[in-house]
Amino acid sequence: MKNNRQIGFATRAIHVGQEPDPLTGAVTVPIYPTSTYVQQGIGEHKGYEYSRVSNPTRTRLEENLAALEGGLAARVFASGMAAINAVTTMLKSGDHLICGNDLYGGVPRLFKVWADFGLEFSYVDTSEAGHVERSMRKNTRMVYVETPTNPLMRLSDIRAIAAICRRRKIALIVDNTFMSPYFQQPLALGADMVVHSTTKFLNGHSDGLGGVVVCSKPEQAEKLAFVQKAAGAILSPFECWLVLRGVKTLAARMEQHDRSGRVVARFLAEHKKVKNVFYPGLPDHPQYELAKQQMSGFGSMITFETGSLNNARKMLKKVRVCSLGESLGGVETLISHPATMTHAALGEKGRKAIGITDGMVRISVGIEDVEDIVDDLDRALAAM
Ligand code: PLP
Repeated sequence: MKNNRQIGFATRAIHVGQEPDPLTGAVTVPIYPTSTYVQQGIGEHKGYEYSRVSNPTRTRLEENLAALEGGLAARVFASGMAAINAVTTMLKSGDHLICGNDLYGGVPRLFKVWADFGLEFSYVDTSEAGHVERSMRKNTRMVYVETPTNPLMRLSDIRAIAAICRRRKIALIVDNTFMSPYFQQPLALGADMVVHSTTKFLNGHSDGLGGVVVCSKPEQAEKLAFVQKAAGAILSPFECWLVLRGVKTLAARMEQHDRSGRVVARFLAEHKKVKNVFYPGLPDHPQYELAKQQMSGFGSMITFETGSLNNARKMLKKVRVCSLGESLGGVETLISHPATMTHAALGEKGRKAIGITDGMVRISVGIEDVEDIVDDLDRALAAM
């Protein structure tokens, strides 16, 4: 086969790391549920010694995800948060990290843990590259952004922030969970590492948690392999296999997510009971032009304003095709209430400061028939 850069995305998703098993010809990667490996003599083995350190199913997934993001190597972890935690261990006490002020709520929660170990954090609006630059200090070592953000769908200009970081030798980390590598390639835009909650679009079937860090430099991959071995928050062989199976359809799923996302966003934007729609694919999104430049699709994450907690409560009681629940990126449409679910930990004051209201509802549009999703939302909105 041609090398990874010469083949298309869908081909890479199905074939890189997913080569038939050399022993049997099985077309799917085998699951190796083993804790250890027989050695031929002292120091003589086949590259595997103990499954916390490495496992053949995990190796295959890491090869696959590195190829999808255009990275040098990938390291997978037990959850998205475990992956983000591993990245944070690359800092030292006294280092400063700048991050978005509108991140998935679990990330500031994790950073509170690290603040007790001497790391410093600044939460800024990264949708303006200038804010990031002005927040830099002598001890700034890392910038961490989610783009688009959760749930306000604000974008950060990856290329502009990467240029600022490069001048000062600061690492830029991008959480690419919402777009997946199918629609956004942060490393090609200048980021140093990419993280994902593989729980979401990469797995795509809401049947396993996981996380990955994709690296652009050998020393990052080495350090993260050390963290896997030292801390042990690795992904099990079975869950690695679930992600390997999920990514085979990533391109097809993302195309459908995007098509349906656009339809649902337009429907919501035209609905008279909906006050505001946050979706980068709507021309009135303030960063629509940036979205077209740095993403090749708009995806299926949409947030909209129902006007009050009471309205949100009434409509969410009525949905039938959409499932009320946390998480996103599955084949099924998931709908959630950020103020009481994903962003409850921020507290009322914290949410108000960044613009998350009690009436906001977030939807992860699945790949059911889009007419059924729209009908379901129409019926639910009528209850407000
Ligand atoms: N990043 C984003 C954008 C998320 O939405 C989430 C979880 O919802 C995470 C990271 C954390 O991932 P996990 O739940 O797999 O630990």
